[in-house]
Amino acid sequence: MIRKKKQAVEDLQPWQLFPPAEISPALKDKTAEQSLLIQARQAPGFPVAAGQIAHAMASRATHALLDYTQQGVGIRYQIDGLWEPIPPLDREAGDAMLVALKTLCSLNPQDRRSAQSGQWKIKVGRDKFTGTLQSQGVPTGERVLLKIEPDAMPFTTLADLGMREKMIESYRGLLNGSEGMVVVSAPKGLGLTTSWQISLNAADKFVRDFQSIEPQSRPEPETININQNFYDPQEGPTPSELLRRMLLKEPDVFLLPEIPDEESLKTICEQVKLHDKHVYVRMVAGDAVEAAARLVGQYRGAAKSITAILQGVLNQRIARRLCENCKQGFQPPPALLQKLGIPAGRVTMLYQPFVPPPIEQQVDEKGRPAPIPPCPQCNGRGYYGRIGIFELLTPGPKLLDALHKTQDLQKLRAVAASEGHRGLQAEAVLTVARGLTSLDELKRVFSGK
Ligand SMILES: [Zn+2]
Repeated sequence: MIRKKKQAVEDLQPWQLFPPAEISPALKDKTAEQSLLIQARQAPGFPVAAGQIAHAMASRATHALLDYTQQGVGIRYQIDGLWEPIPPLDREAGDAMLVALKTLCSLNPQDRRSAQSGQWKIKVGRDKFTGTLQSQGVPTGERVLLKIEPDAMPFTTLADLGMREKMIESYRGLLNGSEGMVVVSAPKGLGLTTSWQISLNAADKFVRDFQSIEPQSRPEPETININQNFYDPQEGPTPSELLRRMLLKEPDVFLLPEIPDEESLKTICEQVKLHDKHVYVRMVAGDAVEAAARLVGQYRGAAKSITAILQGVLNQRIARRLCENCKQGFQPPPALLQKLGIPAGRVTMLYQPFVPPPIEQQVDEKGRPAPIPPCPQCNGRGYYGRIGIFELLTPGPKLLDALHKTQDLQKLRAVAASEGHRGLQAEAVLTVARGLTSLDELKRVFSGK
């Protein structure tokens, strides 16, 4: 009897395993929203959609990719930045789900070819999320990407993200010190927005006046105690007009989520130098030295003003965090420690994800098969959540001087190292030594896979 019941549970599809998520349209008009919800609920695939989204969220997926082909609907989830396959849906259930979701997003469910994009809302307990659906016909059928994002940025600190104590101290010192420029950088699409937000969280916004300069077309999300000022190169005000107005207000900290132009950058740098102010700049770059080199190289006319105030450049990589529940320690052989540049005696244990022995070796003391159940925390992935690996460059006089003379990153990195800078890879090794991630994960992150 029990066996039969267990069999039945295994036959269920993922969407049937979870209580359905609370999904609804994302419209401004409440009445229109209500009637669209009623319409979507009438679609036979609504329970499939609500169940699949509940399953995706319970799996901590940030994205779901649905591939509609003749054979069925292939499904992949992105969890902690990595794609993994999920049991497929048959076409009937998959099609019905898509009709319900497209209806919810005010899209045309009949159109399976054109590129379409829309949004819906999700509620889980008190937390609200926004779902985005993008669909596009492809030669094999249709491809649909679902993205799930929390509405409120979860409050995270530099420590939550894995920054080590000493670096937090220095970084806070730069953000809240007397004057200067701080650059927050990361490779494209790899957590730059998060680092920027968390840097702003770490800055003392209550005693100083923060003014952000943003293009009208790409506004930043609102943040408490930050005043937003918008420029529009076509319609006006232009960056320089805007800046002139802003200077009258004598802000303490200028925020540049993107650099408007060379002239404004130069003006701001000079104000910072003259009146002991701050400017925080956000930019895409592969590492801290590259960010500094780009800043100076791209804005030649402002180069001297930049290096006169450049205090620190933050850069970061995101790696998966080892599951605390099942990670396994091992004594690193001396040769490995040497290769990693860790002094002998400093680290006694390194950690790796739990890998179960081959199934034929999973037996009890009498040799009977005894499969090891997957870890309940990470579901056997070995990783749970993510951490940042940070480098903080505080350029010394030699590097500041070299930035004017060369754009050769190898040379600049060597100068930075000679002034005691610890680069991303060295910081990454420290993260492994702290037991937060594994060497295999570092290999993956730094090979860009
Ligand atoms: Zn685990």
